[in-house]
Amino acid sequence: MPITIRFDNSYARLPETFHHKVAPTPVAAPRLIALNRPLATELGLDAEALDSPEGAAIFGGVRAPGGAEPLAAAYAGHQFGGFVPQLGDGRAILLGEVIDVHGARRDIQLKGAGLTRFSRRGDGRAALGPVLREYLVSEAMHALGVPTTRALAAVSTGEAVIRERVLPGAVLTRVASSHIRVGTFQYFAALGDVAGLRTLADHAIARHYPAAGDAERPYLALLEAVIERQAALIAKWLLVGFVHGVMNTDNMSIAGETIDYGPCAFLDAYDPAASFSSIDEFGRYAYANQPNIGQWNLTRLAESLLPLLDPDPNAALEQARGLLKRYPELFNVAYLDGLRAKLGFAEGREEDLSLVQDLLDLMARDRADYTLTFRRLARAAERPEGDAALNASFADAAGFDGWSARWRARLSAEGRAPDVVAAAMRRVNPAIIPRNHRVEAVIAAAVERDDFAPFEELRAATAAPYDDRPAFAAYADPAPEDFGPYRTFC
Ligand code: AMP
Ligand code: MG
Ligand code: MG
Repeated sequence: MPITIRFDNSYARLPETFHHKVAPTPVAAPRLIALNRPLATELGLDAEALDSPEGAAIFGGVRAPGGAEPLAAAYAGHQFGGFVPQLGDGRAILLGEVIDVHGARRDIQLKGAGLTRFSRRGDGRAALGPVLREYLVSEAMHALGVPTTRALAAVSTGEAVIRERVLPGAVLTRVASSHIRVGTFQYFAALGDVAGLRTLADHAIARHYPAAGDAERPYLALLEAVIERQAALIAKWLLVGFVHGVMNTDNMSIAGETIDYGPCAFLDAYDPAASFSSIDEFGRYAYANQPNIGQWNLTRLAESLLPLLDPDPNAALEQARGLLKRYPELFNVAYLDGLRAKLGFAEGREEDLSLVQDLLDLMARDRADYTLTFRRLARAAERPEGDAALNASFADAAGFDGWSARWRARLSAEGRAPDVVAAAMRRVNPAIIPRNHRVEAVIAAAVERDDFAPFEELRAATAAPYDDRPAFAAYADPAPEDFGPYRTFC
């Protein structure tokens, strides 16, 4: 029996300036290498039926299920600060949208599905390594509680793609609440197509911010809501040590989900200036620069929306500026609240900012492991003598002791039971993140030996990041000394 998917394709119904209707280019030999069964079920799909050669054919773009209306979306974007008026889906093809079991609209998109009108000099394909990285890291982010696109499936294609060297090809099936980007608004704004801009804004409001639709000024309310979600999202990135790596405006989702896992990485040693991407020469997208870049990107969104905000250009500008001014405060509050929770505080106090900053300074100076430091603090919270491994990670023992005494005094002042504090800390300080050396080992095994066991194991390890599970204890360990400085490539 053919697999059916109940599509309802709202983006395909938008005017033809929004997209290029194009079918995936079939791949030679699709083989299902991963299927996210719980996600499939959540989408209302038949997970059992999809776990089959027919499922592989769908996810490999060989057979479009009935009701699919494949398209490549048009968008623009600032890449490393330079504006490109037309980017668009050069290798991603939207199969269609489904309404999931919770009633939410979700895009199902094939990434690496072949050429589109927007492919420029690219081949429309994806390599197996980056597909596995996106699968693992996006699912890990979801398990960590960070809003993100999801990974539904990965297939290998039986075709080679040419990058720095010849690599096996793959297609990732990505799920998102939409693929509308800051760059989508920039596309219509740059064309001077105000009608298109309005249609897009109305679509985004209906889809993501229905409350904005009821506001007195819906487009201003849309901008405000996007600013709020981005501030919250980027705070979450910093709190788990995530470096996106390529925060171009075409990679910032209007829905406030993390999108486009190209050259991303997690911090091992805490270093505010950490930057891993080989193409991010000047550290524009470095760890601690992400909040600023968020503001920069949101300013580009605000500029694009100006024609909708007010018939009087000066009034529009004033309104946009008023909202953008709130962003730093929104970010700072979300970030500080998150750090308080990581330190085990239930209340906010005046001294918290300096307490937090002093710890981060100590960590930076000694290159302490970001994830392990906070996880070990949870153990220290329930033991008067502290945690030996934690103490040992600071060369400046006196400095850390001094800080630790202030932290304990601050905890005592709240008067919560130590085991309650420790449990709360473990719910926000992960034991396991997809460590860079693990991701690289997964990719090497798959690419060089067609061995997917390490992928499966890392997938399992990162699925419950806040639990201490003895079977996965080694996944909490930092990279071995000889791993060296980490570089990522898209
Ligand atoms: P990214 O850096 O992943 O955000 O991609 C930037 C732009 O390049 C987007 O328009 C992509 O669709 C396009 N692109 C990236 N890789 C390829 C490829 N292999 N073939 C065609 N277009 C691509
Ligand atoms: Mg992109
Ligand atoms: Mg990309």
